[in-house]
Amino acid sequence: MTMLDTTAEQATGGMPTDAEPCVLIKLGEVVLKGKNREQFERRLQNNVRQAVRDIAPVEVRRRHGVMVVRMGAGEKADVATVDALVRRITDVMGIVWVHRAWRVGKDPQSVVRAALDLMAGRTGAFAVRSRRRDKRFPLTSTELDRLVGSEIVEAYGLPVRLKNPEHTLSVEVDRDEVFVYTDGTQGQGGLPVGMSGRALVLMSGGIDSPVAAHRMMRRGLRVDYLHFSGMPFTGPESIYKAYALVRELDRFQGGSRLFVVPFGKAQQQIKSSGADRLAVIAQRRLMLRTGQLVARRLGGAALITGDSLGQVSSQTLANMTALDDAVELPILRPLVGMDKIEIMDQARRIRTLGISELPDEDCCTLLAPRRAETRARIDDLRQIDRRLDADELAERLADSVQEHRPVYGEVTA
Ligand code: ATP
Ligand code: MG
Repeated sequence: MTMLDTTAEQATGGMPTDAEPCVLIKLGEVVLKGKNREQFERRLQNNVRQAVRDIAPVEVRRRHGVMVVRMGAGEKADVATVDALVRRITDVMGIVWVHRAWRVGKDPQSVVRAALDLMAGRTGAFAVRSRRRDKRFPLTSTELDRLVGSEIVEAYGLPVRLKNPEHTLSVEVDRDEVFVYTDGTQGQGGLPVGMSGRALVLMSGGIDSPVAAHRMMRRGLRVDYLHFSGMPFTGPESIYKAYALVRELDRFQGGSRLFVVPFGKAQQQIKSSGADRLAVIAQRRLMLRTGQLVARRLGGAALITGDSLGQVSSQTLANMTALDDAVELPILRPLVGMDKIEIMDQARRIRTLGISELPDEDCCTLLAPRRAETRARIDDLRQIDRRLDADELAERLADSVQEHRPVYGEVTA
């Protein structure tokens, strides 16, 4: 057999020619009602289309709390491409489960063949769960369960177990078609990106800020990223890290933008302003002020940081209050109540931990005093701001940003 020998049978993996691999998306318990729900589904439809754009043009159809993703007209629907779609769709926010499914004609034998294909090579107990939306289908759902179940038992000798099976084979009989699928891949949950507006993430090269970004994208925010490098007094390594992190996180929203500010000279000014023990907080305030200007230019309505209460000396309640004082925009801190261990687990899951752990020269170390203030007084900080002329300094920093577009791309052979 040659690779180019594509009879209809091979193209669909031994399935009948009217069978088509596709993707089913479960939105789970969508608690939203009325207009919000409509907006949720429209946004998700769009986001899915965007996310898979470079794999294949697709058609995304809505039906009863489920979405069906099929290859666009004239596109060949092969299993490998559909598997690539599944992998990519798993990262789209707002989805609870993603299933690769067979869409087959409305006759029991087609359903059986699809079921046998999906169960091939599996071990362990299984159950069949059929649902019939079209009551004209020749079999009731119980009869369909029995038919498909007995064929699987006969073909593969797997035991049936209705309670806690290892595999659940689902059959959904619709008006024009039948979908057959097995347990899927767990999605991200949350809300579709863009539904909650836009915000700016203050992105260091550390472990926390990427996790914070993921959390807020998951709540429907589209995010841009701002990184402060110690340049010209440090090397560019922290920028490479921020870039790599944003590229990895880009798979959750697409079209990400990273803005980089060379911050070294401003840090020197803070140092020579006599900020001393307050230097770290003064510098964070300056980052936030700059962030606020950048966010407003981009139409962002909030700033996001990776602060976690008490994790380091700059993250006490008093210091967070002193940071809030520097800006008018709300500062969102999705990690505020999380332990480091939980944050690291999450970082591993979203595949940013390895990048964050690479060595770099964090710009913050340029300033770290011997003993950092844990109870910064806002009056003292405001005085430092006046000495620095922080408003004007922030304007200059915001004008100096360099924009990058780290795009996620799956490395394919
Ligand atoms: P992270 O792991 O995110 O670096 P951290 O535990 O090191 O956080 P801090 O260094 O106190 O904590 O930083 C707290 C937050 O301030 C970061 O999560 C990030 O949002 C922001 N931040 C710190 N340094 C930078 C930087 N160089 N550029 C942009 N944002 C920064
Ligand atoms: Mg850090």
